[in-house]
Amino acid sequence: MPEGPEIRIAADKVQKALTAYNIGEVWFAFPQLKHYEEILQGARVKRVDTKGKAMLIRFDNGYTIYSHNQLYGKWYIRAAYSYPKTNRQLRLALHNEKYSALLYSASDIEVLRNEEVPIHPFVSRVGPDILSENVTEQYLKERFLRKEFKGRRWSSLLLDQGFIGGVGNYLRSEILFVAGIHPNKRPIECTDEELRRAACAVKKLMIQSYETRGITNDLQLVEKLKKQGEERSSYRHWVFEREGEACRIDGTDIVKIIVGSRRLYYCPTCQKES
Ligand SMILES: [Zn+2]
Repeated sequence: MPEGPEIRIAADKVQKALTAYNIGEVWFAFPQLKHYEEILQGARVKRVDTKGKAMLIRFDNGYTIYSHNQLYGKWYIRAAYSYPKTNRQLRLALHNEKYSALLYSASDIEVLRNEEVPIHPFVSRVGPDILSENVTEQYLKERFLRKEFKGRRWSSLLLDQGFIGGVGNYLRSEILFVAGIHPNKRPIECTDEELRRAACAVKKLMIQSYETRGITNDLQLVEKLKKQGEERSSYRHWVFEREGEACRIDGTDIVKIIVGSRRLYYCPTCQKES
């Protein structure tokens, strides 16, 4: 499943294609959305925001298209009216004089009035989006200690979209490793320094992953490993998908566990339980 950084990258492409020209034609596959085609025609997209794994295409006429790609949705940007060869089903097409922005396979698409966006069931629940909002480390530290979060294990908190929007499975393992926190720990058991490191790791890794298309490892180390001929799959992460391989800091074997029916990887030396 794509995580926040991948959604933000897709949002950038959609935004770039759609903000320069007025929308010429709109097409929805779902019958209940058909009547919005005419309403959105001729409008201009002002910007495209993300909220965790959801995308918000904001028009200048008071409407917003909400979409959530779940597991399968995929955006394609093409020259106007050229379609990719794919077996996926087209669900939404936005055309202007130069480009077509095409959303395939997604089933979660809605058109909202701007004032309905903040009260939408997903949007109102999802945590802060590091890549679309100005979220400070101080704010995150305070958030970790809110009563609804502070007593839960980090391993389950980080996959809760209500905690921080857009953190998915690889980011969960990588954030905990960089922060030096054992997955079973809870915010309330962490020192102030650990909470600071967690806040810093959340921001740093989401932004770096966005800028590098998914690399969470130290970038200097990545350069070194590339020169040694390593493939992307082996230099991309600190611990994720590296079970049994040596920790890049101290050589301990990386351990894989299953938490919340998803894979989690950590270093027992760098991330002590107590
Ligand atoms: Zn280690």
